[in-house]
Amino acid sequence: MGHLIELKNVYKIYQMGDETVHALDGVSLTVDQGEFVAIVGQSGSGKSTCMNIIGCLDVPTHGIYRLNGRDVGKMNRNELAAVRNEMLGFIFQQYNLLPRLNLMENVEVPLVYAGISRAERHIRAREVLEQVGLGDKLKNRPNQLSGGQQQRVAIARALVNEPKVLLLDEPLGALDLKLRKEMQGELMRIQKSLKITFIYVTHDQEEALTMSDRVVVMKDGEIQQIGTPQDIYNEPKNAFVADFIGESNIIDGVMYEDYEVEFAGQAFKCVDKGFDENERVDVVIRPEDIIVGDYETSPISGEVESVIFKGVHYEITVDAHGYKWLIHSTQSQPVGAHIGMNIDPENIHIMKKMEAQAK
Ligand code: ADP
Ligand code: MG
Repeated sequence: MGHLIELKNVYKIYQMGDETVHALDGVSLTVDQGEFVAIVGQSGSGKSTCMNIIGCLDVPTHGIYRLNGRDVGKMNRNELAAVRNEMLGFIFQQYNLLPRLNLMENVEVPLVYAGISRAERHIRAREVLEQVGLGDKLKNRPNQLSGGQQQRVAIARALVNEPKVLLLDEPLGALDLKLRKEMQGELMRIQKSLKITFIYVTHDQEEALTMSDRVVVMKDGEIQQIGTPQDIYNEPKNAFVADFIGESNIIDGVMYEDYEVEFAGQAFKCVDKGFDENERVDVVIRPEDIIVGDYETSPISGEVESVIFKGVHYEITVDAHGYKWLIHSTQSQPVGAHIGMNIDPENIHIMKKMEAQAK
């Protein structure tokens, strides 16, 4: 058996007067049954375009999209509509609930399109509304509900067809932080219990990392990296991913030889190898991996510029070697103090320069 979803070298190109926009620039991605895949990237990176193609709402300019082994590009309109009905569910940031219908009726809408009998519709709508915790509000209208409850109705409506793939495009973007966390947990629970494939678009890297089995990082219509949340966080493929996924210090360095790098005017032992001799590299260091030490004896030293309490840690910026270093530490430091910084070799991540990669 092949993959449930397979994008092969997909391009989506828009011509806007003189300007050509590559909304997708050679995207290849496979997703298997039951996976929770998050697509993350800044606004305009091509996430929604990718989602719309996967959802058969849009077609690639070039490239192949296979859903359940079938080439979507070769389907006619009726076949496309049938595939959408049978296989796909959608949840967007706008809930698009119908204000004059009660919750039961809202959730029954996709079943009406699918030609399901009235009696069967009632049973299925009630069941999914109970699953999302709205079993006692079946006859309410959407405007009698909170934002979170309306979102649950949208989830119930997307699930009532028992789709194989649920496509969620920034579904929690309109909710406040506390409710968003709650709904994240709820969606993860639903995904695990129903074993539906989730493709989840978000610009929030933390949301992507906490919820998904695999993360797809996008930039300018291209996939930068695909991997488990651990891979993406611990082994970012380039400085963009490192910076986007967690705050990072990214410093220019030179790889002297295997396991030895120079940055901030010092030679450091590291655990990376396989670069050219004296190759210019990006050195990526997480703020939590910098250990504050003595000004005199530490390899890097500088002056504390600012300190902000973040609840769990202090965010400290230090000016050293012409670079503003970001440190996360459970200990505060006085502004203006001269401090030292130490980094263990395994926390020094060496990356190819991005411009070198692009060649
Ligand atoms: P995201 O969802 O990551 O914010 P989109 O996929 O919506 O990004 O857009 C990717 C790029 O494609 C953007 O530069 C956007 O302006 C452009 N784009 C999207 N849809 C269209 C369209 N219908 N016509 C022209 N350009 C578009
Ligand atoms: Mg979008």
